[in-house]
Amino acid sequence: MAPQTPIDPKSEFSELAAATYKAERDGSASNNGPKNVGLMKVNPNSDVPPPTDHGVVPPFWYSFDLTHRRVQDGGWTHQVTSRELASSNEMAGVNMRLTKGSFRELHWHLADEWAIMLSGSARVTVFTQDGEMFIDDVSAGDLWLFPAGAPHSIQALGDEGCEFLLVFNQGDFSEESTLLLSDWLKHTPPEILQQNFRLDADVIAKLPKGEPLYIFTSDEPRKSLEEEIPEAAQYAAKPKISYTFKASEMAPTRESEAGNVKIIDSRNFPAAQKIASAIVTVKPGCIREMHWHPNGSEWQYWLKGKGRMTVFPGQEAARTMDFNANDVGFVSNMAGHYIENTGDEDLVFLELFVASEFKEISLNQWLRALPAQAVTAHTNFTAEEIAKIPTGQNPLLR
Ligand code: MN
Ligand code: MN
Repeated sequence: MAPQTPIDPKSEFSELAAATYKAERDGSASNNGPKNVGLMKVNPNSDVPPPTDHGVVPPFWYSFDLTHRRVQDGGWTHQVTSRELASSNEMAGVNMRLTKGSFRELHWHLADEWAIMLSGSARVTVFTQDGEMFIDDVSAGDLWLFPAGAPHSIQALGDEGCEFLLVFNQGDFSEESTLLLSDWLKHTPPEILQQNFRLDADVIAKLPKGEPLYIFTSDEPRKSLEEEIPEAAQYAAKPKISYTFKASEMAPTRESEAGNVKIIDSRNFPAAQKIASAIVTVKPGCIREMHWHPNGSEWQYWLKGKGRMTVFPGQEAARTMDFNANDVGFVSNMAGHYIENTGDEDLVFLELFVASEFKEISLNQWLRALPAQAVTAHTNFTAEEIAKIPTGQNPLLR
């Protein structure tokens, strides 16, 4: 597939890009050997890259739809970690489904867990290091944050069950290597369990046998939140902060005719001390402007629509890759990038950072803030032309 816009390569590109542009059209790009047509169709910008792409940039795309899906009674899980997307060495994601009433078993792990509910709803519990028990119900679009080491559970509510995305601040996280309650109890001598719980041997004998539970079916909770919370408070401290965030009800942080962005980090969601996030909506034909982040790599999950992203890590290297719903993207620390909605519906994606606060540097805002003469010296733009550049107050541009 050739780029849609006819352009005069001599006027638009550097010499190198012009040569690529010509080669992509003079038959040099012909490809008569074996092809994986399905993959080529979803990756047009790898097959015929923009002539401005150059050099070696490691892949920054993967899809949950390429992963092994572990299916068991009650739901499924699959993950994109640094094993699948090698460049993403700081963060990993897990996509999980639970059917009506089913549990993700009580467990804990080394990483912090940030989550967004994708469909349906669930009841979540987390027990903190301060002896607090937090219980809440979350619906599509809502978030939670479970700190490292804090044991938690997720149980699907309603007939359709639920599906959610988990993001961890550990690149080689594995959903297979969490610490499970049933696993620990199975590997503790029964006489110790009797003594620890002060329960008789016949009671201990009732514990589940075989593989750890992990995901399993159960009845929906019989009690409402209003009943559960005071009951938990009999044995636990009252939580000082919320571990869920109703992002579905939040007003956008920035909004324009080109889309909107919701920024959720430790400033408005105090539990999220180590994972900052943005939920970005880009209207068709619009772009998330050219920018970079001064405080960490960006891990993306694409929720809806389609688009492309060019990543510029420096040293004359740049690569453009295509994205669809259920794909994961990654932008290495400091690398310049933009995102273009290439579809005909809204594009929605998540930006996640191992950071307490969301930070970005807008190319436009920087250029407008500089003395115009300095910008002219670098770009040949006149002062009048520079004055037309958006001021960077909104990250989405038409
Ligand atoms: Mn977990
Ligand atoms: Mn970004």
